Amino acid sequence: MIIARVETFLLQAPFTGVRRTQIDSASATDMAMLQVRLTTRDGLVGWGEAFGHGCCPATRSAIETLVAPALIGEDARDVNALSQRLQRRFHLFGRSGPVRYALAGIDIALWDLAGKEAGLPLYRLLGGRPRQNVLAYASLERYGARDALVGACRRAVDEGYRAIKLHEVELDLIRAARDAVGPHFTLMADTNCPWTAEEARDNARSLADCQLRWLEEPVWPPEDFESIAAVRATGAKIAAGENMSGLLEFRAFFEARALDVAQPSVAKIGITDTLKVIALAEAFGVTVVPHCAYFGSGYLAALHVVAAMPGDILFERLFLNMPESPFAPFSTAKGGSIAVPQGPGLGCDPAPEWIARG
Ligand SMILES: [Mg+2]
Repeated sequence: MIIARVETFLLQAPFTGVRRTQIDSASATDMAMLQVRLTTRDGLVGWGEAFGHGCCPATRSAIETLVAPALIGEDARDVNALSQRLQRRFHLFGRSGPVRYALAGIDIALWDLAGKEAGLPLYRLLGGRPRQNVLAYASLERYGARDALVGACRRAVDEGYRAIKLHEVELDLIRAARDAVGPHFTLMADTNCPWTAEEARDNARSLADCQLRWLEEPVWPPEDFESIAAVRATGAKIAAGENMSGLLEFRAFFEARALDVAQPSVAKIGITDTLKVIALAEAFGVTVVPHCAYFGSGYLAALHVVAAMPGDILFERLFLNMPESPFAPFSTAKGGSIAVPQGPGLGCDPAPEWIARG
């Protein structure tokens, strides 16, 4: 299991239903998936995905120029230690951002190799019960207009989703969505860090009647744990974590009593650190619902992490149409649930014709 080769592939899958402005994609119409392929001397292949969207070229460069040379000759079975060694070695280039995302992609590929070596799907290797599906929630785009928003909510309900997350910041629109889906439907609102602490507290109070399952990232900047805790003190349920770079930032978040729901992003911090965050969250009584705004091996990794967790944790799927994907059929939700790959490792390598194009 000695690593012999590290390669990157930037796959682009056409989609409709989400504007470029929301995800800052390298292309207005294609979903970017920055894939990493590790090949061992004995020919075993592991796939990972590093975050993401408009940042893919920068992350790709970080993998190719910095991280790949450090991996050649390492034992791929040494996942935990390798994760730590690489973080130490490259920490001066940033604890978050392209270099950190590069390490996350490598970590996912190492876990794919671990599952393949063990002959087990990753979620079973992580201690999950045998299962065929996970429940997904529809993670809508920011429409900024009532008719488009209400139409999307109705489509998501018609497609069988039992939970919807909005990305609106106007309170009237959040209210309109609540009216559209009815009082008992599971509804979340992700605002992506728009408000001052005071604005966030006022808006959280105004939204109390909307009975949101959670209000996500209401404060700028995302690491202002104290202000987020003050929003939570209004009674709002708070979710955040996709912008956290690892265990200690989550610890600070938990210690500030700022979170109800922690959202580590697997393609940003890797599987190894996501598992640590899950354990720490349990100690603080915080629920974990991983962030997943991507569709490559990172999506599969998040799917396996969710499948391995006790109970029925919701899986985030962007509400967009992707007619073709290198990871079909796992990219698609049916009746609001997504099939869990049952093959070893992540259970689905990207289709060869896509790799040829990457
Ligand atoms: Mg979010």
